[in-house]
Amino acid sequence: MGKVIAVDGPAGAGKSTVSKIVAAKLGFTYIDTGAMYRAVGMKLLQSGKTLTEKNLTEIVDDIEIKLDESAKVFLDGVDVTKEIRTPEVSKLASDVSKYGFVRKKLTELQREMATAGSVIMDGRDIGTQVLPNADVKIFLTASLHERARRRFEELKAKGQAVTFDAVENEIAARDKQDSEREIAPLAKADDAILIDSTNMTVDEVVEKILELAK
Ligand code: C5P
Repeated sequence: MGKVIAVDGPAGAGKSTVSKIVAAKLGFTYIDTGAMYRAVGMKLLQSGKTLTEKNLTEIVDDIEIKLDESAKVFLDGVDVTKEIRTPEVSKLASDVSKYGFVRKKLTELQREMATAGSVIMDGRDIGTQVLPNADVKIFLTASLHERARRRFEELKAKGQAVTFDAVENEIAARDKQDSEREIAPLAKADDAILIDSTNMTVDEVVEKILELAK
């Protein structure tokens, strides 16, 4: 039987950075569930349609999302790995993720992906909803200021024109929306281990997760 590590937490906590490293070290498959919600948001953006239940239903009925071994994201067969990392798509991902039928579809896909050997899956509701029987559950967080600083540096390095304040506001608004939604909100599972990475390096967080996974 494959092993499962679930990593949840707010935006910019470092979930994907550390999950990728842990996956490589343990030979697990990394599954980025946020990328899947981003792909739905991206498809809505490409359609040029407004966010209504009807439009979103059409989009979700006819969507193909694939993640490959190197964490590339394919939307209807097209590589959108880079395009989904903009603040605009972040906001849309959070907006579409409120809908029960969107979550149902992606949750089913995620559970199916988790059956392919050992996995480390990151998101907002992995430990609480998607894989409640995960072997190890982590809730990774950091102060809002530190998370905004990391995300700001990341976007700047990619050449995106953003300001620190805009990034901080975007993250705060998204966390609020994700935590307050009715279905599968961002939350720490009762049996998840809390890791506050505010004053930790990437290596320290990775070490801590490897220790827990032993
Ligand atoms: O993790 P990332 O920032 O890429 O996720 C983008 C958005 O997708 C989140 O803000 C959240 O609204 C949504 N999401 C979710 N459930 C997950 C993963 C992401 O609702 N398991």
